[in-house]
Amino acid sequence: MMAVATSKGLSSLTACAAALLAMLAAGFAYADEIVAVRFGVHDTHTRIVIETRSEMEFRAFASGEVSPRLVVDIPGAGWAVSGLDGGQGQGHGLAGRFRFEPAAQTPRLIFDLTESARVRESFSLPPGEGGHRIVIDIEPAPAAVVTASTGFDVAGHTLTQYLAERVQVSYVPPRCERPRIVIDPGHGGRDPGAPGRFGGVSESQLALAAGLALRDILNARGRYEVIMTRDRDIFLELDDRIQVARRAQADIFISLHADAAPNGATGPRGAAVYTLSDSGTNRARNRARQDGEWLQTSASRTEQVNNLLLEMSLQEKRNQSLIFAASILEASSSITPLFRHEPLERGFWVLLDSQIPAVLFEMGFMTNPDDSRNLNTPAYRQRLMTAVADSIDSYFAVCNNSGPVRTAAAGSNAGGPALR
Ligand SMILES: [Zn+2]
Repeated sequence: MMAVATSKGLSSLTACAAALLAMLAAGFAYADEIVAVRFGVHDTHTRIVIETRSEMEFRAFASGEVSPRLVVDIPGAGWAVSGLDGGQGQGHGLAGRFRFEPAAQTPRLIFDLTESARVRESFSLPPGEGGHRIVIDIEPAPAAVVTASTGFDVAGHTLTQYLAERVQVSYVPPRCERPRIVIDPGHGGRDPGAPGRFGGVSESQLALAAGLALRDILNARGRYEVIMTRDRDIFLELDDRIQVARRAQADIFISLHADAAPNGATGPRGAAVYTLSDSGTNRARNRARQDGEWLQTSASRTEQVNNLLLEMSLQEKRNQSLIFAASILEASSSITPLFRHEPLERGFWVLLDSQIPAVLFEMGFMTNPDDSRNLNTPAYRQRLMTAVADSIDSYFAVCNNSGPVRTAAAGSNAGGPALR
């Protein structure tokens, strides 16, 4: 990754990187701008009009989990509303205060609602006298209706409370039979990642060289099926990398990167392992729901049951990702200094699948002369990737031939779903 946050002062840089990731994943070459937000109050509904310089994709959904809100995801959007430089403003009708969050993985506008409401209709309009317009009509709706259509809330319980009462999830070992390992060398093609320093090659080239080395080591061990997201210098969208893992029904996903300290500082060095953050997990949950991946396989299941299974899958993924991450840190600590000794969390897009345990391994800092020299040395990469292969061996040392076991028990509240 290009940026690493080492203090609060660097948060804007991190935000930049997050926005860039979102743009890359959405296929937007440049950020486009929101130039106006307007409101129309009608008897039955409130109309929100978001004006943009060019036509933009969007996704609007109401949420009642914490308090009534409307969220409008607009991939690639920037903020250029004159008079509202802080990205905040006051709405009318059902729309209360609103704010633009550019730092979210997908830039989004969030409206606090004055009462529980749902999206009645949303559509795009070509330019009239102004720019392109995103139009969203919201109307009052009981909280139960809002949560039934968009999320998960039963009788005022938050999702977390509901699950805490009803679901028990235990660690489920991976399957033993020829595990499928997906190796994702970061960047590539027109995206070189962090530039080469101290005479070395770019991050994308280092990641590819390391990925190919890891592939060969794993293949030589004869135990795994190894799939590469890329095995040459090509550009891949972030979402395509997830799709490779999903199509392969991967048991584990490892994305390889090299870090670069802000402003080229040479001090920070060492390897780090990232797993999906809580906010990333929320996005993974939303993606899974919006993809309908849980509904397609189970038209006969109720939405509640689907949501429970999704929660269990997310929890399993989290547990297994953390175990794998700890295993990598342990194995690689004999080869490289560690930037952090614990797994770190962030909402990296490539980690967003809802099911496959996934880590992002920052092999070292390209901005540090020692790390750079090491990473540009084939024998060193071989040692480091051998350590990663060892960590994969130890991750799969405990496995479960009967496949995933999911259990959920009805809790003290009668009427909850019981699954086996
Ligand atoms: Zn990177």
